[in-house]
This record gives sequence, structure tokens and C-alpha cells, in this order.
Amino acid sequence: MKKIKLIVFAILMLNIICNAQNVQVQNLLNDVRLDSLTNFVRQLSGEKPVIINGVTDTIKSRHYQTIGNEKAFQFMKQEFIRYGYQIDSFAFNTDGKNLFAIKTGYKYPNRRFMLGAHYDNQPTTIIAPGADDNASGSSTVLEAGRIFSNYNFPYTIVFALWDEEEPGLLGSIAYVPTIGSNNDTLMGYINVDMLGWDGNNDSVADINVRPVANSITLSNRAQLCNTLYNIQLGLHIVNPGNGATDHAPFWNNNFSAIGIDEEYDNDFNPYWHTPADSLGQFNLSFYQKCSKLAYATLADLAMDTVNTVGVSEILWGNNFKLYPNPSPNKIYMKWESSNQAEYTLKLYDIFGTQLYVASFLSSSNGLIIDTDHINLQKGIYFISIFTPHSAQTYKIIKE
Ligand SMILES: [Zn+2]
Repeated sequence: MKKIKLIVFAILMLNIICNAQNVQVQNLLNDVRLDSLTNFVRQLSGEKPVIINGVTDTIKSRHYQTIGNEKAFQFMKQEFIRYGYQIDSFAFNTDGKNLFAIKTGYKYPNRRFMLGAHYDNQPTTIIAPGADDNASGSSTVLEAGRIFSNYNFPYTIVFALWDEEEPGLLGSIAYVPTIGSNNDTLMGYINVDMLGWDGNNDSVADINVRPVANSITLSNRAQLCNTLYNIQLGLHIVNPGNGATDHAPFWNNNFSAIGIDEEYDNDFNPYWHTPADSLGQFNLSFYQKCSKLAYATLADLAMDTVNTVGVSEILWGNNFKLYPNPSPNKIYMKWESSNQAEYTLKLYDIFGTQLYVASFLSSSNGLIIDTDHINLQKGIYFISIFTPHSAQTYKIIKE
């Protein structure tokens, strides 16, 4: 009876891992609503009125030298407060103001992942909707605020809305060098800037990355999430990435960062920085996919679904070791356990196909997988270990 239960549990977990890497990330993605995303775009681009501090108003422009810039700040702040976030802001120059919404991690409160977008816009005309640039990214961040508020994460998540990107990335340039001054570690930053335009309907988005800190790992993780969560974007990896938006100061200060953006090279938005940059020009399905890619990557990182630790060993709790990684032929696992539970190990390729399974007793205190014996080719694999109460997945590399 006990054994049957364990098998049922293991099969259940197997399904979860094969269909999508993490069921909570998938649940979160299922919460994304296009009508909510576009409603934020309408409000930020002046197509629809907003209520700020109880007063109905319209954001006609978010240009940094207009009153609409402050209205946008207040509107977004109010939304994040409504979702229960701790709010912070960062003032710079004479009237620049970045907005931050913080969800503190339950396990690693001082380790942060960030998702950000600039909210100021162009052109200088009285009516400047700036829907694609960058009400699209700002609304992706606001919708993240709505969705992520329903989940808890081991790592701290910070949503950032930058001011004065258009005159030269001023908001992010002023803020980024201050990161770490309060004992917080920035684990990774995802920037979103212009996600609405897909004029040729090819569903191709750019991931801008540079070989700085763990930026390449972030980019790989985003690509993996696109596949695992069936987001169906074509991804164009741009390395060295475009430095013309707010992820650049992160690279310049040696932080891990990527930028998700609509295609820049072959399909640039012709309405960019004109009064005609409106929601009506969006490819809505593309916009939703880009937002989902940002959410999947952020949630996957902040939920810590796959542990990868350098090249030496991977720790599980205080007493589990998996090494070496990358591994030439044998993978050793060691742990200390005084109980007698039955554990199951499964090894998958990146497509979720199970290649190997083994059951063992926790009291054995060790296990060796001979990867040559099971004919494993060079590449990336996942090892999932199922205990009666939990499952842990590790990424391994066979050399
Ligand atoms: Zn922009």
C-alpha cells in the first residue's frame, strides 16, 4: 500500500516535470490576462482615464518634462500598493524618480531578482501615448505585480519602473551603482522595453545579452523557459546586446542582466517616438507571449526550481552532494540520512524524456550513476529526486 502510494506520487510529479518544469510557474502563467495587460497600456497611454488619489485624470504624456510623468508614477505606485507590495522610490537629478515594488523572499530575503521597464516616453508633443515605448514594458511589470502577489518565493523580487530612460538611461544609471550598499545581492535583472510590435507576425523577440557575470545563464534560462512553458516565441539572441536601454547600466556595473524586446533589426516599429505609437498598432498575441517569457523566467529563477552550482558540487539541504558537475562519466551522490524512506531518482533530457530511473533507500547514504553505462551523450540533463514528501530537480552537464 505504501509502495503504491509512492509510485502514484512519483508518476504525478513526473507528469508535472515533463509537461512543464514547475507547476507553480505554469499556474502563474495561467493567471496572465491579456485584457489586464492591455488595460494597463490604455491607462498609461492616455487612451483610458485613470483614478489617482480618488480623482479621475488622463495621462496624456509620460515625457519626463510633463506633469503626466508624475501622474504615471503615482498611478503605478497606487497599483502596487493595492497588490500589497512594499514601495520604495529613488530620486535623482532635479525631478527624476524611479519606482520600486518589493516582495520579500521567505528564504533568501537579501537575494533579489528584478524585473524592470522605463515609464517615461517620447515625443515632446502634448499628446504622446508611447504605447509600445514603453507603456508595453511598464504594463508587463504592473501585470507581474498583480499576478506575482498571489505567490510566495524563496528569493526577493523587486519590480522597477525607471524614469528618464529617453534622455539617456538616467534613472537606471543613477540607481544601479547603489545596488549592494545595503547587504542585498542582485542575482539577476530582466529588462522589458518595447514588446508590442511584431509587424511581420513572425513571433520573433530579441534577448539582449552580454558575457557579463551570469548574464549568459539568464539568457539560457529564458530560452529554456520559452520551451518548457510552451510560450512559442522565436528567440533571437543578440550578443553583444543592444546597450540603448536600462539593462545596459547593469552590464556596465558587472551585474547579470538580460533585455527582452521586440525584434530590433528586421522589424522595427515605424511609429516609434511618434504621437501614433498606440495600442492599436500592437500585435496582441505577441505582446502577451513576450510578457509571459519575462514572467516565466523571473518566476523560474525566483522559485529556485533548478539548482545549478558552478562546477563542483550541488547541495541539497546541508548534507546532500552531487558531484562532479559537469561530469565526464560517473555522477556521485552522497547524503546523510537516519530514516528509511524510499527515494526515486529520474534522469531526463531537456525535452523531458525520461532516460533513467532508480529506486533506493535513503539509508544507503549514496548512489552512483555511470553515465557511460547508460549511454548518455554530451549535453544538459536534469536529475529529479523524489522523496515521499518532496522533489528536487538539478541540472547536470555530461562532458
Ligand atoms: Zn524605450
